[in-house]
Amino acid sequence: LKRRIPDDKGHDEVGTLGRSFNIMLDRLEKSFLMQKRFSANVAHELKTPLATINAGIQVLRLDEAPSVADYEKILATTERNVARLIGVVDDLMALCYEDEDFYLSDIALSEMFEAVRAELASVLDAKRIETDISCNGISVRGNPELLYRACFNLVENAAKYNADGGKITITARAAGGARQIVIADTGSGIPEDELQNIFEPFYRVNKSRSRKTGGAGLGLSIVKTIIEKHGWDIRADSAPGQGAAFTITCPAK
Ligand code: ADP
Repeated sequence: LKRRIPDDKGHDEVGTLGRSFNIMLDRLEKSFLMQKRFSANVAHELKTPLATINAGIQVLRLDEAPSVADYEKILATTERNVARLIGVVDDLMALCYEDEDFYLSDIALSEMFEAVRAELASVLDAKRIETDISCNGISVRGNPELLYRACFNLVENAAKYNADGGKITITARAAGGARQIVIADTGSGIPEDELQNIFEPFYRVNKSRSRKTGGAGLGLSIVKTIIEKHGWDIRADSAPGQGAAFTITCPAK
């Protein structure tokens, strides 16, 4: 791909056409590399749980008289890893969303976040996390399924990375001609120099800790894809130990 074209007089120096061609080649090359890295990450995320499931099967095969407890232990590991695989595949499908399914309607934010809270009730209750929703009767014009998914991912993260007994505050407010939706938590926070990376696919700030919480690092890249699809904006603010706040900015309608 790195072949450079000379200008039309055969000089080494490239002409305008050659320059744009070379810029295009650079972009193509970068996009191929990103695609390759993405595929390698997908393969890794699928391979790890599959290898664990396979190891469990081999253990049972080699054991001449496995006990019920042996079966149960391996069944539990298998179930956990199958759930992980389903999660990764669901996330990958969300990233490959087809444009023709995109439509807009009015979305009452209060109701949407109440539904998100209800879906996450078991996680929130287990960690005794208080969730405060104050959306001031604001509604926005967006795709309901996609916006629900984006907000679900953000609230799920706010719960996952929060401390036991922590708090999640969800607010919607008018900011001039725009609307702002803020999802803030009292969790571990994100170091400032990591903030520009967290929306990249498969990126995790603390790989070992994040792996234990179950994510593949696709949640925020799905959020970003959805927000950009609407032509909206999302930003993250945080300081270690002071929680994180994600702000979605969208037009009034
Ligand atoms: P994951 O599946 O690992 O949660 P995400 O794409 O949703 O992946 O998030 C990427 C990384 O950003 C996470 O691994 C975590 O390190 C960090 N992160 C996201 N949300 C928060 C939050 N609310 N508080 C602290 N860290 C967060």
